[in-house]
Amino acid sequence: MRLLIMGAPGAGKGTQAERIAERYGIPAISTGDIFRDNIARQTPLGREVQAILAAGDYVPDVVTEAIVENRLHQDDCRDGWLLDGFPRTPHQVGALDNHLRDSGERIDGVVSLVVDEEKLVHRLLGRAQEEGRSDDNELIIRNRMRVYAQETAPLLATYRSRGLLIEVDGSGEIDEVTEGVFAAIDDATRA
Ligand code: AMP
Repeated sequence: MRLLIMGAPGAGKGTQAERIAERYGIPAISTGDIFRDNIARQTPLGREVQAILAAGDYVPDVVTEAIVENRLHQDDCRDGWLLDGFPRTPHQVGALDNHLRDSGERIDGVVSLVVDEEKLVHRLLGRAQEEGRSDDNELIIRNRMRVYAQETAPLLATYRSRGLLIEVDGSGEIDEVTEGVFAAIDDATRA
């Protein structure tokens, strides 16, 4: 099974990605987690992307694409994977298309978690407060939303036109959303 999960910041991609990965026995690959891990370890990559993540902007495509390409060649990705937070730009869609063409693979579905934007801003502000992340202020959160709307939301139409989009209501309780996600994936990928 090869899946993508998409959704605006705060839509719950990471949580649902972990659960999908467990259910289908595939690795969940989060580009955001890879960047955060490198920042925590202060690797050269971490130092390069630190300010970009702090501002809520996107890491350059070439950097992100190289990381994903490298990760997808690891052994645990042979029988499938779930990409969480990639692709986020049209250029990244092209890079993933090239990878799939070269490896003779295809995507089975693109899960899109649908949540109202005001609800997301509210969620993110609450989360920032709980975790004491004072830098995650409303301006940065609004910037992340704007970047998502401009750069990434249009990709949904691309995958819809390919017949791959699996839209799921992401506004309920976490377990409820998970049930909806599992049902929608099973439905969409049933042979
Ligand atoms: P996430 O955890 O998916 O919300 O990602 C956290 C941050 O990492 C994003 O706000 C971006 O700064 C960066 N990032 C993650 N994935 C990508 C990507 N595919 N392209 C560019 N930047 C990314």
